[in-house]
Amino acid sequence: MVTISPNASLKRPPPKIGFVSLGCPKALVDSEQILTQLRAEGYETSSTYEDADLVVVNTCGFIDSAVEESLDAIGEALAENGKVIVTGCLGARDGGDMIKQAHPQVLAVTGPQALPEVMAAVHLHMPQPHDPYISLIPPQGIRLTPRHYAYVKISEGCNHRCTFCIIPSMRGDLVSRPINQVMQEAENLVNAGVKELLIISQDTSAYGVDVKYRTGFWQGKPLKTRMTELARALGDLGVWVRLHYVYPYPHVDDVIPLMAEGKILPYLDVPFQHASPRILKAMKRPANSENNLTRVRRWREICPDITLRSTFIVGFPGETEAEFEQLLEFLEEAQLDRVGCFAYSPVEGARANALPGHVTEEVKEQRRARLMAAQKKISTARLARKIGQRMIVLVEDVQENRAIARSSGDAPEIDGVVYIARPKKLKRGEFAEVEITGSDPHDLRARETRL
Ligand code: SF4
Repeated sequence: MVTISPNASLKRPPPKIGFVSLGCPKALVDSEQILTQLRAEGYETSSTYEDADLVVVNTCGFIDSAVEESLDAIGEALAENGKVIVTGCLGARDGGDMIKQAHPQVLAVTGPQALPEVMAAVHLHMPQPHDPYISLIPPQGIRLTPRHYAYVKISEGCNHRCTFCIIPSMRGDLVSRPINQVMQEAENLVNAGVKELLIISQDTSAYGVDVKYRTGFWQGKPLKTRMTELARALGDLGVWVRLHYVYPYPHVDDVIPLMAEGKILPYLDVPFQHASPRILKAMKRPANSENNLTRVRRWREICPDITLRSTFIVGFPGETEAEFEQLLEFLEEAQLDRVGCFAYSPVEGARANALPGHVTEEVKEQRRARLMAAQKKISTARLARKIGQRMIVLVEDVQENRAIARSSGDAPEIDGVVYIARPKKLKRGEFAEVEITGSDPHDLRARETRL
């Protein structure tokens, strides 16, 4: 005979939630917030479909290939598990209709930044466990990045209306997080062992515009909700601070001295998108290329070690050969360190699609290849200038015969790395000093030095 204890229901294992996270670092932060809340409420996470009681898929809807990847991921989760909740940017397209039509079996669909809605759907289909002891979570929350670096999202949405982009229609206008909240999160991360904070948003330089740069308080002192003040305060935490998605406003000049002082990393990710004044206007981007070139020169005067990363779009509707060549000339003049290039993708709902003179896919691809070839020469020459220098790197991985690290010029996932031969004392997630011994178009080679 089997005796059932009256407390058996309390001892039931907590529900397990599987999670698939797609898309950009901003979507990753949304995933981290959902995972943190799940853990806070006592749910467990599962790394396999078969072990999970339910799966959340965080989607990306930025370009057509991302839409396809997201729909495939939802299909896979349905086939392998069957209980699926969808969130993220694709969920905001057509009010979620695209997903519901492709996969009518999904339990719920929400847009991005929809923590309460996602949790409500989870509660409905997989009720919350009751054990209060498992609701304890670490103060830094749940992270999907390695222990030594973390993304910190400082705002949501965007006030611009670039004609190639549908992000504002999915994520809304700019909403800045209170500066004390951002600082508290950053401090928690540093206390938990994070060595590098990557600051992200749709438009980092606009931080605080929506709250008129309101003065908040951090550790009893007033602190304005503005990029320069935030960068300085983060710099005081004593870890690497890297700024991403810095729209080229004039006041960006104010953070360059902080880089020269060593407060934050001498690294700026500033998407210029093009160099032809006509194309920039058609894109509804404010800066013109002459101003941008003057800026780049001034930034380098103030901080000669600065690494400049930018992204460009080629084959924008109406782009002529002459306008594309203007972009190549800009690259030659600007000598940017890191460049990403996209062929224009007519994302559904983008106003630029209505512009005349669409460029053929073949020409777009040719221009992308030409731009990347030109940039490869620039990048090769700029990296070669580092041979012989000593620099501090953050170690990502230690293998038998080599270690992989990143310098101040290398953001995770998007830039190059530093390969260190025959590592002796290097540890993953720790800083080390190296001497650069070689380079190629994207990466550096180095040897360990004694600190
Ligand atoms: S600034 Fe960035 S997020 Fe905002 S509309 Fe332009 S491309 Fe989109």
